[in-house]
Amino acid sequence: MDEMREAVTAVLGDIDFDPEELHAKYLSERDKRVRGDHNEQYVEATGEFAKYLDDPYEKTVEREPLFDEVEIAIIGGGFGGLLMGGRLREAGFTDIRVIERGGDFGGTWYWNRYPGAMCDVESYCYLPMLEELDYMPKHKYSFAPEIMEHTQNIGHHYGLYENACFSTSVTKLSWDEDTSRWIIETDRGDKMRAQFVAMANGPLNRPKLPGISGISSFEGHTFHTSRWDYEYTGGDNGGNLHGLNEKKVAIIGTGATAIQCIPHLGESSEHLYVFQRTPSSIDYRNNRETDPEWAASLESGWQYRRMDNFNTLVAGGDQDEDLVSDGWTDIFRNLTGTAAKLAGRKLGRRITGREKGHLMQMADYQKMNSIRNRVDDVVEDPATAEALKPWYRQFCKRPCFHDEYLPTFNLPNVTLVDTQGKGVERITAKGVVANGVEHEVDCIVFATGFEVGTGYTRRAGYDIIGRNGQTLSEKWENGPRTLHGMQTTDFPNCFFLGFTHTAVTVNVPQALNEQAMHISYMISQVRDQDGTTIEATAEGEQMWVDEIQDKSKLGERFRAECTPGYYNNEGKVGNPDGFFTTSYGAGPIRFHRILSEWREDGQMQGADIS
Ligand code: NDP
Repeated sequence: MDEMREAVTAVLGDIDFDPEELHAKYLSERDKRVRGDHNEQYVEATGEFAKYLDDPYEKTVEREPLFDEVEIAIIGGGFGGLLMGGRLREAGFTDIRVIERGGDFGGTWYWNRYPGAMCDVESYCYLPMLEELDYMPKHKYSFAPEIMEHTQNIGHHYGLYENACFSTSVTKLSWDEDTSRWIIETDRGDKMRAQFVAMANGPLNRPKLPGISGISSFEGHTFHTSRWDYEYTGGDNGGNLHGLNEKKVAIIGTGATAIQCIPHLGESSEHLYVFQRTPSSIDYRNNRETDPEWAASLESGWQYRRMDNFNTLVAGGDQDEDLVSDGWTDIFRNLTGTAAKLAGRKLGRRITGREKGHLMQMADYQKMNSIRNRVDDVVEDPATAEALKPWYRQFCKRPCFHDEYLPTFNLPNVTLVDTQGKGVERITAKGVVANGVEHEVDCIVFATGFEVGTGYTRRAGYDIIGRNGQTLSEKWENGPRTLHGMQTTDFPNCFFLGFTHTAVTVNVPQALNEQAMHISYMISQVRDQDGTTIEATAEGEQMWVDEIQDKSKLGERFRAECTPGYYNNEGKVGNPDGFFTTSYGAGPIRFHRILSEWREDGQMQGADIS
């Protein structure tokens, strides 16, 4: 025990809290929130709720249905689809078509235009292809309009607009064995063909609604944050929501999205009620304009070096230098193996696994205490401050970084309605009921997130029919089966981008870039070997399923102690479709190495070209 204390003191100094008390508090906050219906508590945006998916930004352009053939169809025009298209163009492929539900490129940045939307990973890492496009973001953390513009610039740079189909949703994909082609049907009456199909649907693309009784009885206005109704609110990403000046507004949810739009709602609404079930942890943002001298000093290859440096640090690895040096790297440096290495260096001995686990837990308590202290420092009303404090370990939920969110609760027209972990009780014709009290409002904004942990094809919005009429939903009924997350047996020439069976990264576009490069390599191999199809073998697929299952146990104990959220499948740890259960648990550094070694090996282990 003394040695444990020694390791902790070496890194954290004297501890001024009672770890057991905190642990018990965390478990009681979790227990307050765990509910039997887990993911089922949410309502799918279909039927009477399908209107929540309508595109408020673009009017659909009329066009004739397409019955033609392309070599490669990419479904999704967000960063995944754009990176896929760009890497394929670089590999010499020209006959490419992007099919996108939105009216333009952008993906998550097309849909999420809510006031205050911005990236919370440093833009010099987050915006891909900065060197390819010779572009430097204006701020350390970019605002949504600039990011969307960048996605469009990638589309132009790689000629991806030429053959693209926007405002088009795929309804069915089926493999035609006779011609070895995919048949793609859409809601625009298309029936096109493609030799290869890459699915870049996005991991969190389908808005979900809370299953609150009475939700359809509300007579006022409602919308989901990912379909922001500026016609109603006025203003833009920068705020000034003048349409709300005489409106009482409710926002349900306090996750990463809500944190960013609440300051603008608070500033403009006559009155804002924030309905909170679980508070987020709000760390410092410290955004700033890009220093032109620094930008001019960067040498060729700087973006990959920066992304790798960031990715290594936030995957718990060691780096001599922290190039990004922000809230993300600060958390990881203190809460991961880096802290253990520091303890080892200070004490001049190796830190054991148990000591490391203990040290990380203590560092976590200390970090979350500082997050809670920040709330006290900023929020004037003590009861509101108390309610805004998160009681769970860092990474139970997505950490948030913002400097205007907490001060919003000092405004006289903003009320935090803390639901004590129970959520909103009921929605009536006139308003929202929580803790037995009805709050009358004109408008309800649902900041309730996106489907995670439901079946892959449900989230995609279409099923895929492979060899012998088998559907992907049937094949993956008990969880996904893939080789490296990108191919599945009996679905030849069909590729997946996303976090199913791949490693989750903080910097999502970096992971998508690795996958795009890997898929581009596989398609190039088919071309170079004069083949027609590439497909995961049954053995290759089984090998990867075993590996995923083996590694999915990592972190399970941690997640079981967390308050519910999509990171732990709403408290149902082990759900076969869950976010971390279906991702590669040993992290992105190892995963990306597996991919690059597979390519270098050149033997296409686990895949067949024919
Ligand atoms: P989340 O799923 O993170 O949050 C949903 C919110 O709705 C939670 O606060 C949840 O509470 C609340 N909620 C759900 N049901 C109820 C209910 N019945 N009553 C009251 N509250 C309810 O969705 P977000 O859209 O905020 O974020 C999703 C993800 O998008 C983030 O995790 C992040 O990965 C990404 N994102 C990234 C950004 C970026 O800068 N790159 C910016 C914004 C989002 P509870 O916590 O209790 O479940």
